[in-house]
Amino acid sequence: MSFPEPIRDVQVKYTQLFINNEFVNAESGKTFPTINPATGKPIVQLQEADKADVEKAVAAAKEAFKLGSPWRRMDASRRGVLLNKFADLMEQNIAELASLEVLDNGKPFKAAVFDMFFAIQVVRYYAGWSDKIHGKSIPINGDYVCYTRHEPVGICAQIIPWNYPAVMFVWKFAPALAAGNVVIIKPAEQTPLSAIFLASLVKEVGFPDGVVAVLPGYGPTAGAALTGHKDINKVAFTGSTEIGQIIMQAAGESNLKRTTLELGGKSPAIFLDDVDIDSAVEQAQEACMTNMGQCCVAGTRTFVHEKIYDEFVKKSAALAAKRTVGDPFDPNTINGPQIDEEQFTKILGMIEKGKKEGAKVEAGGDRWGKEGYFVQPTVFSHVTDSMCIAQDEIFGPVQQLLKFSSVDEAIERANSTNYGLGAAVFTNDINKAMMFANGVRAGTVWVNCYNAVTPQAPFGGFKMSGIGRELGEYGLQQYVEVKNVVIKIPQKNS
Ligand code: ADP
Repeated sequence: MSFPEPIRDVQVKYTQLFINNEFVNAESGKTFPTINPATGKPIVQLQEADKADVEKAVAAAKEAFKLGSPWRRMDASRRGVLLNKFADLMEQNIAELASLEVLDNGKPFKAAVFDMFFAIQVVRYYAGWSDKIHGKSIPINGDYVCYTRHEPVGICAQIIPWNYPAVMFVWKFAPALAAGNVVIIKPAEQTPLSAIFLASLVKEVGFPDGVVAVLPGYGPTAGAALTGHKDINKVAFTGSTEIGQIIMQAAGESNLKRTTLELGGKSPAIFLDDVDIDSAVEQAQEACMTNMGQCCVAGTRTFVHEKIYDEFVKKSAALAAKRTVGDPFDPNTINGPQIDEEQFTKILGMIEKGKKEGAKVEAGGDRWGKEGYFVQPTVFSHVTDSMCIAQDEIFGPVQQLLKFSSVDEAIERANSTNYGLGAAVFTNDINKAMMFANGVRAGTVWVNCYNAVTPQAPFGGFKMSGIGRELGEYGLQQYVEVKNVVIKIPQKNS
């Protein structure tokens, strides 16, 4: 795939809800703005979904999932063909999709394009699974034939965050459809534009009516209407741990929806004293600051061996100062703005807390510029485990450098949080790397790399970082119900 050129004046073509393969207005007629985080100014008004629109989408989804419907009767292989066609259309529209993402989310264009490349790979990966999802024949006791079917769960609500809008959309949409489910997707209110553009591709691909709905709107209204709905069979959510708890409660109280949650983190990256320092410093900072730190698996606790700590601090500060901040459409920009005023204010508040608690600002430490929600890439040294900046998710470009002296100590401290999403260790000592990989309580452990997230391998959290896994075959399992069928026969033979 060639690298596209940005469309600086990208036009927003779609602003409505997508229900039953049609773009429609909200029942209430209400609209809401989406804001350009680089300027703080509104881009466009969108139709705002609420309970009545959720009801409409659920009615269409039920019809689409009825026995004998075109979707239920479709060959599994054909579902794969449709998903591949969807990926083709993403490729054809990549410049527009990436540019919408830059406008709406503020991520630098190059990063937005890499997001789309990744998203396309995920769709193709699950397209391939469509006709390879099957059960087993089981030799049970007695005169029976026994087999399992891996059936779709049914109507799946999928609630998406704003940090990787298109990527998170397909992480949920693709495995669900590969397994034959129907989906109602609620993008984050901050970033609905790429999602609603993707909805237009759904229609072009030719998925049957009602199989996919996309409902831009707010969490406590549209989101809560989905999680509390009695006819929705599953909710898949990515977002904060706090909202994850609310969602699980709503799912439990309503109808025990199957629930998968991908939540927050405070992921540790451990650097032993045998690493190449320049490369380690770069990897540590990228682990923390990629996507302006707005990454659930961001490596925000950088544990550095005491022997290399001082040099590591100096080099990290110099590197952060070189990180270009500014217009996300500019090809030289590495850090764009944070997503919105709320996050921007929260991050600046956390930086102030860090200063008050006695950590030392080695770089940054303030807002960048006068307009938009930019934060200077910030590096703290002399951070201790009990400080808020070492405990709480910051979701900004703020790196904490902590000192340690042994692997055992690093493992214990890495684990001393309620989160358990990602972890990394950098060393050439295989024994120490393996000690860490086995000892750390996290859903993904990287050795000598970070953020190596691929369509084929599972991603998700231990502890309060989530429930269930996305991606890979494990991710697919979250979208099937296992049905056991037992048939009495006159005589069984081996
Ligand atoms: P963040 O903290 O990263 O902004 P949130 O967890 O608040 O993320 O939101 C992630 C997604 O969850 C968004 O689509 C948001 O609208 C939705 N959401 C927020 N509150 C609720 C809720 N009470 N019920 C359902 N969805 C919600």
